[in-house]
Amino acid sequence: MKQIPLLINGEFVASQSSQLIDVTNPADNSVIAQVPCATEQEVQAAIASAKEAFKTWRNVAVPERARLMMRYQALLKQHHDEIAEILSQETGKTFDDAKGDVWRGIEVVEQAMNIPALLMGETVENVARGIDTYSYIQPLGVCAGITPFNFPAMIPLWMFPLAIAAGNTFVLKPSEQDPMTPTRLAELFLEAGAPKGLLNIVHGGAKEVDQLLTHEDIKAVSFVGSVPVGQHIYKTATDNMKRAQCFAGAKNHSVIMPDANKAQVLNNLVGASVGAAGQRCMAISVAVFVGKAKEWIPELAEMIGKVKPGVWNDKEAGYGPLISPRAKQRVLSLIEQGKQEGAECLVDGSQFSLPGYEAGNWVGPTVFTGVNEQMTIYKEEIFGPVLCCMEVEELEDAIALVNRNPFGNGTSIFTASGAAARKYQHEIEVGQVGINVPIPVPLPFFSFTGWKNSFYGDLHAYGKQAVRFYTETKTVTSRWFEDDIPHGPNMTISLR
Ligand code: NAD
Repeated sequence: MKQIPLLINGEFVASQSSQLIDVTNPADNSVIAQVPCATEQEVQAAIASAKEAFKTWRNVAVPERARLMMRYQALLKQHHDEIAEILSQETGKTFDDAKGDVWRGIEVVEQAMNIPALLMGETVENVARGIDTYSYIQPLGVCAGITPFNFPAMIPLWMFPLAIAAGNTFVLKPSEQDPMTPTRLAELFLEAGAPKGLLNIVHGGAKEVDQLLTHEDIKAVSFVGSVPVGQHIYKTATDNMKRAQCFAGAKNHSVIMPDANKAQVLNNLVGASVGAAGQRCMAISVAVFVGKAKEWIPELAEMIGKVKPGVWNDKEAGYGPLISPRAKQRVLSLIEQGKQEGAECLVDGSQFSLPGYEAGNWVGPTVFTGVNEQMTIYKEEIFGPVLCCMEVEELEDAIALVNRNPFGNGTSIFTASGAAARKYQHEIEVGQVGINVPIPVPLPFFSFTGWKNSFYGDLHAYGKQAVRFYTETKTVTSRWFEDDIPHGPNMTISLR
């Protein structure tokens, strides 16, 4: 059985650990590899290597760091399909969707190629007579990243390229459910010429993560995953005096106004709700129909009901299986609870099974209507191909509903009215808003700005905010004496 290696000090090495976790093909649950839980010494060695590499990497010229990212971007593009194929096999994503996962990561590497401009500080000449003040942006040291299963290319690439381009070194702990994709990303990073120790990879679960969170040489922690783990990581990292950015769960609402373009709404909602089997943190899981727009629900349900799950290389497949039997059981039990609590199940995917792949983690597309705020299917993040439809009278009611929800990752409004869209974007307490765009994930020159329970921290992923997250600002105030006139002691705090 293939064992996933660790990456320590520029070498892929077999772990000495006897604790192994199966990596499966979610389409049939066959075991395709095993991933080790790194030993304490191995985690120590990864951090030590990153610490050592930082001593030289921080002094490497910034354009040279940018060139490493250029070579890396070229290799990622060259191997785009091959990475997507690995990704499909361990996540079950359709090939096109897997390519999208890789592509959205490549876009962040492109942002990292732009690092010289992103590291520019500020200057003011003559803050006092003959005195200038200027700031430099300097790296922190060793940073760590803990990533979820659902975007095994994009999310690691949200983290290490920008951190490293900014002059840091990195220890990545990928999801144990799909570690083959991040391993391939790391191989290509070495092939691009990354010096040893810049990027290290350790595998495992809670114990290995806690070792990173409590180690004095780790200066910053980036996390993406579920709410309870995000809260634990934020609290533990900050308790250990590290900065942390933790992206957590979501419940994303799409508000549909009756003046919207119906065909556009329906087509967009199909992909945004059940695409990737609903396993996207920006998936639309709640559709809020305002006024007469509710008349479109049966047609939407019919369209969603026609989406066919399938294996990754089936070109007709709309989406693949869920990641694990546990994830499937969780989604099925939520669907059951939805029925018991009185929601009407217009399309029921709970009995779906793919012929020839009966052992896989399949759930068919599912649509509930008549959902209210007290129901478990509304309160919980389902993370499956399930859309909850709700109805309200006015735009104000929709805004109040979305704002009452504890999550704030993404939302969208479909309307032909600029005034309604303007009101929505201004009043909604959600960090990423789409106007006639269902899944408003910003490109990497902006930042990924979830709010409320979808994010713990202040500086977000990628864009300028990530560069701030992975750096310190050093402000220098300087005077060069042109004469030798004695100024005498200055007993005040003011500059003169
Ligand atoms: P998860 O929280 O189970 O795991 C995420 C990472 O944390 C993995 O690397 C895992 O090994 C590690 N981990 C698990 N338990 C831990 C513990 N007790 N202590 C320390 N580390 C632990 O999440 P997942 O199931 O892999 O991913 C799905 C979740 O991620 C969903 O809730 C989804 O909304 C969220 N997500 C959020 C965003 C965002 O940007 N807000 C993006 C993608 C995914």
